[in-house]
Amino acid sequence: MENCIFCKIINKEIPGKVVYEDDICLAFLDLSQATYGHTLVIPKKHYDNILTVDDETLAHLFKIVKKLSKQIMEKLGADGLNVLTNTNEVAGQTVHHFHIHILPRYNKNELKINFIDHSQDVDLDELLNKIK
Ligand code: AMP
Ligand code: ZN
Repeated sequence: MENCIFCKIINKEIPGKVVYEDDICLAFLDLSQATYGHTLVIPKKHYDNILTVDDETLAHLFKIVKKLSKQIMEKLGADGLNVLTNTNEVAGQTVHHFHIHILPRYNKNELKINFIDHSQDVDLDELLNKIK
């Protein structure tokens, strides 16, 4: 897609530090390196986010996420990792080409994903009825 920075990396119009590539997907180092080894896995075909990517591509991407997660952890000596995909601005998505973040973890303080407990304000049965 025109003006998509990740499509430009796929088309080699701008450089990317490519970790892995096959017919369906590309994995490359995230510029920000939020944690050491921060990697993005993206489909070669443009989809905006997880809501629109086709199921077969999504399944393949997660298979590659698993493979690369193991590889990155082993090679970099990470103790764990976070796998994350942001969907729409409200959730922090800035690049609207579907991507999965692999964030290797070395300690508890280097990255803040802050789950605040709102359980006091939520009726779980009402919530379940809404979702199902
Ligand atoms: P998100 O906030 O989930 O949309 O993540 C977008 C990510 O893309 C951010 O972590 C950026 O650091 C990363 N990013 C943006 N441009 C580039 C680029 N040219 N090469 C590598 N990573 C990039
Ligand atoms: Zn794109």
